[in-house]
Amino acid sequence: MILLKNIDYLDHNFVHQKNVDILIKDNIIKKISPSSDDNFDDFFSECNSEHHPEIIDGKNKVVLPGFYNMHSHVPMTLLRGYGEGLNLQNWLFTKIFPFENLLTAEDTYWGTLLGLSEFLASGIISFSDMYMRMPGIVKAIDEVGIKANLCNAITDFGPGIKFCETEAYRDEMFLLEYMKNNPTQKIIADAGIHAEYTSYPEQVLQLLEFAVENNLIIQLHLSETAFEHEECKQRHQGKTPTEYFFDLGVFQQKCILAHGVYVEEKDLRIIQQNAAVLVHNPASNLKLGSGFASVGKWLDFDVTVCIGTDGAASNNDLDILQETRLAALVQKGLKRNPKLLKPEQLLQMITINGAIAQGRNNCGQIEEDYAADLVIFDLDTPNMQPVYDLATNIIYSANLKNVYLTMVDGRILYRNGEYQTLDIEKIKFAVNRIKNEKLAQLS
Ligand SMILES: [Zn+2]
Repeated sequence: MILLKNIDYLDHNFVHQKNVDILIKDNIIKKISPSSDDNFDDFFSECNSEHHPEIIDGKNKVVLPGFYNMHSHVPMTLLRGYGEGLNLQNWLFTKIFPFENLLTAEDTYWGTLLGLSEFLASGIISFSDMYMRMPGIVKAIDEVGIKANLCNAITDFGPGIKFCETEAYRDEMFLLEYMKNNPTQKIIADAGIHAEYTSYPEQVLQLLEFAVENNLIIQLHLSETAFEHEECKQRHQGKTPTEYFFDLGVFQQKCILAHGVYVEEKDLRIIQQNAAVLVHNPASNLKLGSGFASVGKWLDFDVTVCIGTDGAASNNDLDILQETRLAALVQKGLKRNPKLLKPEQLLQMITINGAIAQGRNNCGQIEEDYAADLVIFDLDTPNMQPVYDLATNIIYSANLKNVYLTMVDGRILYRNGEYQTLDIEKIKFAVNRIKNEKLAQLS
């Protein structure tokens, strides 16, 4: 048991609630009540001395639901800074894919650990990820104790290969088997389609059949660049990527759509009507020169919006706070409208929207009987004072130094700069070894 004593929190409407005690028992938020000395006497009397609750002093601190990073390729930390100054097509085909071909499951294990260290330090408690060499990724996530929805997407450049003959299929089967043996739902298998331009209709249909059979969410990249969007129209009788996937039936499953920089109004209608989710990745879109999504318009069409960092090779960090601030600043500037994307809306995108999009019930809010997935911010620093509106300070003033603690399912994974379940020195050594090995192989 853990007691957050005399702490502030943001409630489900992101309203600042002050001076409460929050009791965490096992993996859930058991009780929230106004702070007093005798709130939990009943609970405490049940504990013997060995199981005394840990008390965390909440003075000058605020607790929020932990954050959801809804589009990432976590082992791409291994490629951070490799392949700079290129547009998406050149970046992918001349740098990223050749490097990725060399990766082993041991490499993705270390790359994932490095990414998870960044996730935990920025308050991320769950993420939706698309990558390959899945056993290495799952081993890392399992050891660290964070939540994730994972897929290995079909990525193909030659027609005729069946989905069931691909590495993606083997990785998906690995994930389903893992879930069978680990029914906690910490790791959830999704299905994945890399994009329209890296798949064929027959494969998409085979993937769809697999997703329907196993009741899987589908993650895909959609209308990320103008080139992709227009090329799809030429290839498929004027259909946008959204129309193309809709006509194939993909939207019968719940879809997590990354980027959407070039989605049109007709696309937004399809996305909204099929309860699909758009994930905004502002840093990656800007850095690759892809453009910038009209998130204000997405909201006008009542589309559910989440935020993602994308991979570290195109961002180049995995800080969801910076990502969220960037989303707000660019949107306001671009549309010359300071009212766009209020702090509460942005916080909703990286908390409850993520939980719902990942199919996780009773997650994403600080509320009794909800999962104890949370992040505690330290307010006792110059950049967080004074407080007129706490949500505004979190979005526009907070930085990684303010993240005091990250907890997943009642377990503290990060506190005061220290990791509980990963060894950062070992990880840094391993990723530099891998970098040198791959560069030697590529030269
Ligand atoms: Zn991506």
